[in-house]
Amino acid sequence: MNKLDTALVTSALQDAGFSLTESVKEADVVLINTCSVREHAEQRVLSHLGHLKHIKKSRPDMVVGVIGCMAQRLGDKLLEHEAVNIVCGPTQIPQIADLLKQAFEKNEKRLAVTEKILQKTTDIQNQTLERFESAYGIEDKQIPSQAFVRAMRGCNNFCAYCIVPYVRGPEVCRPPEAIIEQIKRLASKGIKQVTLLGQTVNSYKYKKGRKTWCLADLLDAASDIEGIEWLKFVTSYPSEEFFNEIMQVMADSPKVCNYLHIPAQSGSDKILRAMNRHYSSRWYLELLAKARAAVPGIAIAGDFIVGFSGETEDDFEATVELLKKAQYKNSFIFKYSPRPGTTADKRLEDTVPAEVKQKRIAKLLAAQEKISDQLSRDFLDKEVKVLVEGLSKKSHRNIAGSPDNPQLVGRIATDYIVVFNGPMSLAGRFAKVKIIKTSPLTLFGELI
Ligand code: SAM
Ligand code: SF4
Repeated sequence: MNKLDTALVTSALQDAGFSLTESVKEADVVLINTCSVREHAEQRVLSHLGHLKHIKKSRPDMVVGVIGCMAQRLGDKLLEHEAVNIVCGPTQIPQIADLLKQAFEKNEKRLAVTEKILQKTTDIQNQTLERFESAYGIEDKQIPSQAFVRAMRGCNNFCAYCIVPYVRGPEVCRPPEAIIEQIKRLASKGIKQVTLLGQTVNSYKYKKGRKTWCLADLLDAASDIEGIEWLKFVTSYPSEEFFNEIMQVMADSPKVCNYLHIPAQSGSDKILRAMNRHYSSRWYLELLAKARAAVPGIAIAGDFIVGFSGETEDDFEATVELLKKAQYKNSFIFKYSPRPGTTADKRLEDTVPAEVKQKRIAKLLAAQEKISDQLSRDFLDKEVKVLVEGLSKKSHRNIAGSPDNPQLVGRIATDYIVVFNGPMSLAGRFAKVKIIKTSPLTLFGELI
């Protein structure tokens, strides 16, 4: 979600005459796009701002803006920071070019956030966001041939630990025709993979005439677009609504990738209730079984929070059990970080000590690593189709690499990461690769 906002703001500013610099030292404007989901992310922003404060001593004209969730959460408190000129929330990003111009011309601090974030966004705000999104929703410049398209903004779920509804506001689904038009435009520019985004993307619904569109309808319509080869969607909330329809379109359409990111968060029913997640661990595992029955070979990924308020050793063990039964391809695992304003922070105590959270995260990560390792091994000696992203992060360390045969990285339809040596001209294209070695998170291959 944040990557998409960064791409939108970058292209809007390029349109307004700004250009990207290689380093902060050369920049007239520094914008930090922020996330508030965990405290650690916010602390990193504050430390960047501390650094920028020093730079601004010798460059007082430099304009510093904080955009995104932290801007919405802290508002004028953030504007008081010596380094900060602009604070702009997620709903206000269409104003970013104007805010920058005002900051330059008038040398004034500017605040643009939503006052009553829990209220539904107005039609005018929605239209402005829609225009901005349609005009600038373009490909990820760093990964050729791939693009993210937002299906919905905000979230109505209010999981007890989560800041998202308080910084992104209530759920708003984009009109299906706007989404489909955008994907068509992307396809005409050479985009091959589109990922539809939403905090609970599987609950997408939009009433149009007598028909209510759901995510399955969007995927179906997008599958008909020539040039689009792969469609993915993240993140799904464990829910019965539309689940069968979505699995059916995944089973039927060769373009809809067999990949489902569906966080459980915990395996303890007591903790799930405290988290305000509306399912039990048993029901969740049955849902995964349904997905596997409908789409054999589907790869499933999860998220977990360890050390949530009141989590006992037994609750944690139930999470380890669930993770093992779920057989995730990979899991994103976080230590519980209380967020100001959420119900968990207001009503529950952060009972689990930091060292216990640390132990639990290490144990859960180790259990996941074992499963990921086993699942990866199934790919040994198999041929896979990879959408190549570009140079791998460690290409400089690859001894087999040479300037015309560097180490590249890409993903397969089920989201596994593959690295192999090949010409840079493959970036943005599909390649056939034979897997010769595996590790828990990466498959290593040879170009066929
Ligand atoms: N909407 C998605 C969902 O419901 O699964 C995920 C949204 S959230 C931005 C991404 C992940 O961050 C969550 O799945 C959760 O595991 C984690 N997360 C959210 N709030 C957290 C908190 N207060 N402390 C630790 N992890 C948190
Ligand atoms: Fe946060 Fe829950 Fe909404 Fe996901 S579904 S964004 S975890 S409130």
